[in-house]
Amino acid sequence: MKYTSTRNPELHVTAAQAIAQGISEEGGLFVPESFPAADLNEMLHLDYIGRAKYVLSRFLTDFTEEEIAECAELAYAAEKFEFDTPAKVVSLDSHGENKHILELWHGPTCAFKDMALQILPHLLTKSLKKTADGKTAVILVATSGDTGKAALEGFKDVPGTEMIVFYPENGVSPMQKRQMNTQEGGNVCVCAIEGNFDDAQTGVKKIFTDEAVKAALKKNNKMFSSANSINWGRLLPQIVYYFSAYLDLVNAGKVELGDAINVVVPTGNFGNILAAYYAKQMGLPVKKFICASNSNNILTDFIRTGVYDKKREFHTTISPSMDILVSSNLERLLYHLCGKDSEKLTSWMNALATGGNYTVDADTADAVTELFYGGCCDDRQTVETIRRVFCEDDYLCDTHTAVAMHVYGTYCRETGDETPTVIVSTASPYKFSDSVLNAFNADKPEDEFEEAALLSEMTGTEIPLPILALQGKAVRFNNLCAADEMPGFVMKTIGV
Ligand SMILES: *Cc1c(COP(=O)(O)O)cnc(C)c1O
Repeated sequence: MKYTSTRNPELHVTAAQAIAQGISEEGGLFVPESFPAADLNEMLHLDYIGRAKYVLSRFLTDFTEEEIAECAELAYAAEKFEFDTPAKVVSLDSHGENKHILELWHGPTCAFKDMALQILPHLLTKSLKKTADGKTAVILVATSGDTGKAALEGFKDVPGTEMIVFYPENGVSPMQKRQMNTQEGGNVCVCAIEGNFDDAQTGVKKIFTDEAVKAALKKNNKMFSSANSINWGRLLPQIVYYFSAYLDLVNAGKVELGDAINVVVPTGNFGNILAAYYAKQMGLPVKKFICASNSNNILTDFIRTGVYDKKREFHTTISPSMDILVSSNLERLLYHLCGKDSEKLTSWMNALATGGNYTVDADTADAVTELFYGGCCDDRQTVETIRRVFCEDDYLCDTHTAVAMHVYGTYCRETGDETPTVIVSTASPYKFSDSVLNAFNADKPEDEFEEAALLSEMTGTEIPLPILALQGKAVRFNNLCAADEMPGFVMKTIGV
């Protein structure tokens, strides 16, 4: 199994190279050259780790069975997740509906990023051993919240890695800040930036290409690496839970083996929903991919019109992990749907970079609408949905999941489609207690732990242990620097 770049058909690399490098040199993304078939029957009675091994081994043909087993077993060990499966399916079918929630937030940081970032460190260190002869990987992360904490928790004390996370001083929720600043691990460090997420992101990108910093690293047998969501090592593990959810529904007698389902995904960078599309390429019967956006509804417009236009207002919403205007992983989908025409694809991506928009050809646009439905949901509708779902289904969901629930409702009304549907739930409501409480007309306390306690009291649901445990943890990091001080901070921290 080889990988090529969406923008360079001459390139053929191994999985280890694709994972170690993260992004192709000319700016394209690594994609598998073909999709291996999965046999649903063979996976039916396996547990999550078994299913992960099954899917991963088909893509990581330059890894040994033992290496893959070690990665999956370390990442999805029972003690890391709240239940005996990391991907729990909850059926909301008491009203005769065919609605199933795939909860992906029972890991150490209470967001679905754990599903990929618990295994990425193991995939990455093994990839580096195969390609970069024993250099220490220095991983820099710019985060608007969920990714930073999940990456820290995944990489803490992983030999051969060091990690520095930058976040905007005033751009993350109090609970997210608390999660990061209390992080344990001898190889990790956290620093707030005076500025917004873009400043942090631009700063990190500059350091990656800073020749002086790179030379200093090389002298010390270190190299930069990245953990962001365009890395193949983050996408691949996400394919597994779509198979797992489907097979769990078959085993529960809710779906006949072979029958199609729909999936609904609250979408930001398009990684999660792309993994569902990849599962279909391997043989998972999926009828429609329902792409749910908040007020930053650039994907809704694109799916409906074939025009991707980022020249629009950026909205700060109560589902912040989806506040994004350039969904990087869409490039991969378009590559597959336009007939792997990298020249055409490159012209679209260049048009986006220079003019802020592109329009795909009619065939590609048709292929998109054949598979995908796009819908969106503003903050008011998000809060209303949390309240309604709690009243009607006795189910408490977070703001991101509520966006998906709302868009699914619109889809059903428009189409009358009664296909069994998996709605992906991406975060614990307790990560966003402040916004979720808006659904319950509560007088809100000041402190983030008191907010969580009030939400628990009002809804009769339990605060996840990783959130409760933060309360007693000492703050380890109080770093704050200006964007132009970031290179110096990195050099000092890693001692070069
Ligand atoms: C990252 C994130 C998303 C968006 O996922 P993508 O793969 O970027 O589309 C949705 N919800 C939550 C809670 C997230 O952290």
